[in-house]
Amino acid sequence: MKIIVLHGGVSNKPELMGKVEEYAEIAIEKSEPLEAVVEAVRLMEDDPLFNAGTGSNIRIDGSIQMDAAVIVPGDFGAVINIEKVKNPVLVARDVMLKSPHMILAGDGAVKFARKMGYESYDPSTKKAMEKRDRILNRLKNGEIPEYYHPEFFKEFLGDTVGAVAFFDGKYAAAVSTGGTGLTLRGRVGDSPIPGAGIFAGEKGAMVATGIGEEIVRRMLSIRVYSKIGKGRIEDICRQEIESFGDIPTGIIAVANGKPCAISNLSMPHAIVLR
Ligand code: ASP
Repeated sequence: MKIIVLHGGVSNKPELMGKVEEYAEIAIEKSEPLEAVVEAVRLMEDDPLFNAGTGSNIRIDGSIQMDAAVIVPGDFGAVINIEKVKNPVLVARDVMLKSPHMILAGDGAVKFARKMGYESYDPSTKKAMEKRDRILNRLKNGEIPEYYHPEFFKEFLGDTVGAVAFFDGKYAAAVSTGGTGLTLRGRVGDSPIPGAGIFAGEKGAMVATGIGEEIVRRMLSIRVYSKIGKGRIEDICRQEIESFGDIPTGIIAVANGKPCAISNLSMPHAIVLR
């Protein structure tokens, strides 16, 4: 039995559901769950409609720093604030499988990527540049709403991507993001933090999306994981997401062979079973 769940970011357009479904159908063809989640995330990184890889958000200083992670029960790999690579998720996978470390950050992550053969690549797009210009203009005009203001979420939230899979009893998850808009260089959200934006163990796998700071504060993924078995996974996720109130948050999970995708705002997603 194979299950894969993908998301294209909370607050992202519902019209992207078709794209996410298309990528889920491709990814489920892989034989291992780790390969499947990496492929799903790679496809979304290459699609500029999502805020990961090509099309990532641009920081206030003009740089693009991306975070990505992969996890299987008992192992983890992440890159934090990596720059000038096409597919951060592939580098995160290589950190897990080909380095003695679990997390590489900043220029060390970039150097590792080059050693692994990933060439220099500019992930910026016109759309991301325009978004940054809009933010800067509003900053100059003193119009930027505070971080937790609903206006902020509407305009500056991510469209991060993630995937969880359960193939023949084995779990895996992957995530990739350009971070929320309007961030300082060096900012790290929930995505590459195990237990916060991503987690997997013998009972299930999950990936979150939303305001990274709030997800880290609540350690959303490990909270959901620790409740597996105490009700339906869908109910557990719904209860956790409800606790965020109107702070846009979403989670995809698969636990005890049951998938779910829960959010409190539009979150294009796909659940495919084979
Ligand atoms: N959680 C991501 C972050 O804070 C953003 C997102 O999910 O869209 O970096």
